[in-house]
Amino acid sequence: MVNHGFIMVTSQRSIVVGGGVAGIAAAWRLAKAGHRVTLVESRHALGGRARSFPDPVEKGRLVDSCQHVVMGCCSSLLALLRQMGLSGLLRPHPVIHFLSHGGRRSRFEASRLPPPGHLAWALAGLHHLGVADKAGIAASIASLAVRGTGTAPTFGEWLARRGQGARVVRDFWDLVIVSALNQPSDGACPRLARKVFIDGFLAARDSHELRLPIIPLEDLFHRHMGERLAGAGVRILTATDCKTLLPGRGRVTGIALRDGARLEAETVVLAVPWERLPALLAGLPEGAVRCRGERLRRAGIAAVHLWFDRRVLPTAHAALVGATAQWLFRHPVADAGDGYLQAVVSGIDETNHDAESLANAVIGDIGRFCPASRRARLIKSKVVRENLATFRVPPGVENDRPRPGIVFPGLAIAGDWTGTGWPATMEGACRSGIEAANALLAPQGC
Ligand SMILES: Cc1cc2nc3c(=O)[nH]c(=O)nc-3n(C[C@H](O)[C@H](O)[C@H](O)COP(=O)(O)OP(=O)(O)OC[C@H]3O[C@@H](n4cnc5c(N)ncnc54)[C@H](O)[C@@H]3O)c2cc1C
Repeated sequence: MVNHGFIMVTSQRSIVVGGGVAGIAAAWRLAKAGHRVTLVESRHALGGRARSFPDPVEKGRLVDSCQHVVMGCCSSLLALLRQMGLSGLLRPHPVIHFLSHGGRRSRFEASRLPPPGHLAWALAGLHHLGVADKAGIAASIASLAVRGTGTAPTFGEWLARRGQGARVVRDFWDLVIVSALNQPSDGACPRLARKVFIDGFLAARDSHELRLPIIPLEDLFHRHMGERLAGAGVRILTATDCKTLLPGRGRVTGIALRDGARLEAETVVLAVPWERLPALLAGLPEGAVRCRGERLRRAGIAAVHLWFDRRVLPTAHAALVGATAQWLFRHPVADAGDGYLQAVVSGIDETNHDAESLANAVIGDIGRFCPASRRARLIKSKVVRENLATFRVPPGVENDRPRPGIVFPGLAIAGDWTGTGWPATMEGACRSGIEAANALLAPQGC
């Protein structure tokens, strides 16, 4: 715990509350613009929801609570990593492996055709879909790009109007949509769903590619990004809880910490989940800030961590067709134990699985999908369920997301839940942080 006392800072002072991706991006942008930035994070490490825990089997190692995937289209986050000199910590995976029962596998990768046709061969090569399925998918994606989703109230309804049957929806459309929006297409906002396909599959040659960290998330965000932030002059206070904002002269003048200390600043960025805002804003005059995202609802994701006595998945990752989990990932660190496997189950709010039945369902699927697992012994399993992983994306959700930026003189909000046009992702969080910082850097913000 850091002992704060009363801290005096000079001109151009900014405080960023929340050390997730949004807060890190905001702190970096403000520091690079010459502000003296203090980043306040309540947990012991930066990274927010992108976090790790001690490996219970390989002592001394970290395991990610849940694998975090960056796609090639996440331009803002990739640019931040480049600016920090950390691009090498994400490894591009140009091939996505689709895996189904019996270990049948397809390689989904760009051909030499220019975008938007670069993935046509990859679609044609998917082993688990028939020729008519693929023709229907290709025609639907083309229509999505050219005409959009029209008057369809949900993405599921649009798919139904396109004649996409339940099996194709489950084995193709929802594999993508549940992974990206954490909710099936039935009930999902058509605009966000369209964005996933356009930005992720049509926009550029590498936009669909996975970029996976080669180190645990805590090392990436806390150790490496923390070092870069400190190098840019950012003062990082972890294990430090912001209690409320301090108002004065019609603007924000700083924050009060839970331990009683006060930090003063000309500008503050609140980069915390929407649920935390009401308490932090309580120090401001009643009704001063309206846009709080109170209509947003939580959506959960579970990660099933499995430690086998040997490698059971031949590839670094796999998208699972017709399974409980959408994805399997091996350990991100190359020299870590070979037998670690993580299954990511998005959209868990649609199921009633408790931890034990979820683990059993995933273990059963691995037995069917990974033939090598039949000779393997399971040493340990652990389910990590994050109930507030993302927000739900019903139709109209975009109206419930306030834009990142200034909400009161001297105060800006950021976070993946703000209105960036992106789903709840690290990319959305990064964009929001930069947008919030830019708003404060504009003359009217300060
Ligand atoms: C299981 C799971 C899987 C995911 N998979 C992916 C993925 O594959 N790809 C992807 O792009 N995204 C993924 N996401 C989403 C991604 O993690 C989030 O979109 C992103 O990390 C949100 O960043 P943020 O900065 O907006 O918020 P957060 O990460 O929630 O950060 C907010 C920070 O504020 C801190 N805080 C809150 N209150 C206070 C206070 N009073 N004082 C001080 N600090 C405070 C919190 O401790 C937290 O560190 C996943 C999320 C989960 C949970």
